[in-house]
Amino acid sequence: MTKIIKAKKLPKDPGPAAWNEILEPVSGYPELNENIQADWVIVGGGFAGLAAARRLSQLVGEDETIVVLEARRLASGPAGRNSGFMIDLPHDLNSETYAGTHSADLQQIRLNRAAIKFAGEMATEYGMDKHVFDPCGKVTAAASEKGMAHIQSYQNHLDVLGEKYDFKNTADMKDWTGSEFYQAGLFTPGTVMIQPAAFIRYAAQGLSNRVSFYENSPVVQLEVGETHTLKTPKAKITAKNIIMAVNGHIQSFGFFPRQLLHVFTYASMTRALNEREIKQLGGASDWGILPADPMGTTVRRCSSFNGSGDRIVIRNHATLNQSMEASENNMKKAAALQDRSFAARFPMLNEVAMEHRWGGDYVFLGIQCPHLESLISEFGRPVVRMA
Ligand SMILES: Cc1cc2nc3c(=O)[nH]c(=O)nc-3n(C[C@H](O)[C@H](O)[C@H](O)COP(=O)(O)OP(=O)(O)OC[C@H]3O[C@@H](n4cnc5c(N)ncnc54)[C@H](O)[C@@H]3O)c2cc1C
Repeated sequence: MTKIIKAKKLPKDPGPAAWNEILEPVSGYPELNENIQADWVIVGGGFAGLAAARRLSQLVGEDETIVVLEARRLASGPAGRNSGFMIDLPHDLNSETYAGTHSADLQQIRLNRAAIKFAGEMATEYGMDKHVFDPCGKVTAAASEKGMAHIQSYQNHLDVLGEKYDFKNTADMKDWTGSEFYQAGLFTPGTVMIQPAAFIRYAAQGLSNRVSFYENSPVVQLEVGETHTLKTPKAKITAKNIIMAVNGHIQSFGFFPRQLLHVFTYASMTRALNEREIKQLGGASDWGILPADPMGTTVRRCSSFNGSGDRIVIRNHATLNQSMEASENNMKKAAALQDRSFAARFPMLNEVAMEHRWGGDYVFLGIQCPHLESLISEFGRPVVRMA
């Protein structure tokens, strides 16, 4: 018997995927406009879709065909919109300290490191340089008493886990970032910082001799039976196997009803800094800071990559949007918060404006959602925190 499932919604994230915008334009991959057959169809071309494509290409015979269908351009969805921290340590946003239980944390670290190793193999094989995949570590930083308390408890937790870190005082933080905003930080070496859109582009390019990619080809209907049929607006694919890698849009196909929380988060990216501004700022050319308070502000500074310019990215603000769409108002509020966060950290760059602003659907399983109670009590209303 065949089951027909129509997609109720297609993905829509607000604003441009800035990491992709600042790269050289590419002609990309074709739309699916003729009926084809495949052994494997992966729906969704974000990190999960590309990882599945890579793993399948290692596991199945050369004679088995692998197709990736992406609703938009590659790197336009959340995978091309995030802050680019590939974190090895526990990063449980559900907790005040990012930490979970001891055994869960150890398992999480093993998993995270396996994923980073897997991504690192892709980086090496597909020729990504340090601007795209940089195993440089990250700092969890505090700018308030509350943040300092978080740092202390994070430090205790790292001691229990036997993980290495390096404490940075106020002067170290200034030397590294150019900003006098931070009181202290904990450097942990295992995080990899990626340019997320470039990572996706290189990964797809590297896989493209084995995997067929189709962009602007949303799956609008699934027919699940002995063999399956996936319909896009212009054509269809008959497939033996389907892997759904659509993140929260799995709900658009009727799976996990009422179990996912669509938490959008937002970011702004400056225009390219000029030579004078780079000097005024000082500090290192590339760095990433996570807030000690999990609901605070993430900041990245990135040096120019193929002419993209030196820029600063600020991420904060979270809203619950069960409709899977963020509003103009959400974007406005985020923009105002991010301008304030930027001004507080970089008063020496007061002439530098934001060039790109965007948001994206983060998605949490209800049971693992950060600050679940406050989200539920404010259901449907923006939840705003900043540090
Ligand atoms: C502003 C921001 C900052 C973030 N920062 C970080 C960070 O620093 N570190 C971190 O680990 N995570 C971060 N995240 C979260 C991270 O981006 C997501 O966890 C990640 O993108 C999930 O990858 P994915 O491949 O599962 O899903 P996605 O990246 O969402 O990819 C799913 C893909 O499926 C496609 N799709 C959906 N429906 C269909 C359909 N019907 N047909 C075809 N294709 C479809 C979408 O277009 C999309 O490209 C951040 C997110 C945001 C928004």
